[in-house]
Amino acid sequence: MLELRNVNAAYGNIQVLHDINLEIHTGEIITLIGANGAGKSTTLMAISGIVAVRSGKILFEGASVHKLPPEKLVSMGICQVPEGRHIFPALTVMENLDMGAFLRSDTEGIKKDLEYVFDLFPILADRRNQDGGTLSGGEQQMLAMSRALMARPKLLLLDEPSMGLAPLIIKQIFEIIQKINKEHNTTIFLVEQNANQALHIADRGYVIENGVITISDSAENLLKNQDIQKAYLGI
Ligand code: ATP
Repeated sequence: MLELRNVNAAYGNIQVLHDINLEIHTGEIITLIGANGAGKSTTLMAISGIVAVRSGKILFEGASVHKLPPEKLVSMGICQVPEGRHIFPALTVMENLDMGAFLRSDTEGIKKDLEYVFDLFPILADRRNQDGGTLSGGEQQMLAMSRALMARPKLLLLDEPSMGLAPLIIKQIFEIIQKINKEHNTTIFLVEQNANQALHIADRGYVIENGVITISDSAENLLKNQDIQKAYLGI
């Protein structure tokens, strides 16, 4: 579904991504793990067209997409839930969800997807008229994910969905990520510092260090890898 070939990206003169190669197949949950500042968010933003690719290629369903603007990528099926959620705080839950469907015109499909997100997160249905900014951190994460789902993505990019949330909410969010993948045919690319949780739901994973992919393996093998255990799993 998605392939990064020798992708390089920089902020001004500072190069952050160095020859990134990775691939994501339809139906997979892939995780990218790494320390603070390793380049995880930059990788996601390069895919979603927010950070420019200096050289290399990004292919989505066989088409070259690294020069396309974010809104075009959303309409093609790539949607990102950014780190820190970035919901619209002064808009209600319902209005935030409407914004997710901004590029769509299939009224029936939008209605169905709204029912789907309310089914996934019943709390959002209860709070549909509440301002986004007054929701709890966990509820805002649910809203950010739901807003992205309202665009009906084929590939959902999730940047640190567990950040700042209580353990019980994190468990719920990870279960729902699996549900979205399995029941809604959505391929997932998950960036996480919570490597343990991420590897437990992922099919495969990549490790990024200082902007370089250093390891790529099945999630099962990564969980057993002693270097990974020491560096990222606190074992
Ligand atoms: P974290 O887990 O802390 O979010 P990360 O792995 O997602 O880290 P990035 O946010 O991709 O890392 O940052 C990679 C590097 O790029 C860091 O050194 C960071 O300081 C730098 N960087 C990120 N955004 C910018 C920016 N807008 N301008 C300049 N440098 C940036």
